[in-house]
Amino acid sequence: MSKKEELDKLKEKILQEKLLLQESSTNLVFGKGNPEAKILFIGEAPGANEDLQGLPFVGAAGKQLDGFLHSINLCIDDVYIANILKYRPPDNRPPNKEEIRNHTPFLIEQIKIIKPKIIITLGNFSTKFVLGGFSVEGMKKVEGISLLHGKAVEKELEDSKFIVFPMYHPAAVLYRRSLKDELEKDFLKVKELLT
Ligand code: URA
Repeated sequence: MSKKEELDKLKEKILQEKLLLQESSTNLVFGKGNPEAKILFIGEAPGANEDLQGLPFVGAAGKQLDGFLHSINLCIDDVYIANILKYRPPDNRPPNKEEIRNHTPFLIEQIKIIKPKIIITLGNFSTKFVLGGFSVEGMKKVEGISLLHGKAVEKELEDSKFIVFPMYHPAAVLYRRSLKDELEKDFLKVKELLT
């Protein structure tokens, strides 16, 4: 089975499960991009636009992300994008522990299928989840994004080895313009990691 077929099968499986936040959401937001990509971005949770379209990063944060990708000559076909949560939390509140515990087994399945070379975690939630050993319990032991961004860490998940590269969440730029330079610099480092 191709990676695309495996992801389609996983998506069908999620649609048959009763996940937290499903009832208050319009659509499942599973992921988008190239299943064969070397880079996997992991965001936090869908917002209103993502919930309506059933696709991650299609709103204001998505515009920022597209811009940063273009700045290093990459586009959506060069990457895959998924989130910690597969359904939108009401009023875009932060994910809670139960929701993360309930949704992340599917993110882990996505990682095992895609087997990326680089996982770029966007913001605190995905950085803490991935560097905390893919567990909710491990999250509290991980430093914040302002200390960890732009530093590559090697990590394993069963038989897959990859580089984890934390970055500020692109939405952060919308309310703190000073972070734009940091994100631009970190995106330039991604180019180096790819070589
Ligand atoms: N922010 C995220 O973390 N994910 C999305 O899909 C959209 C905005």
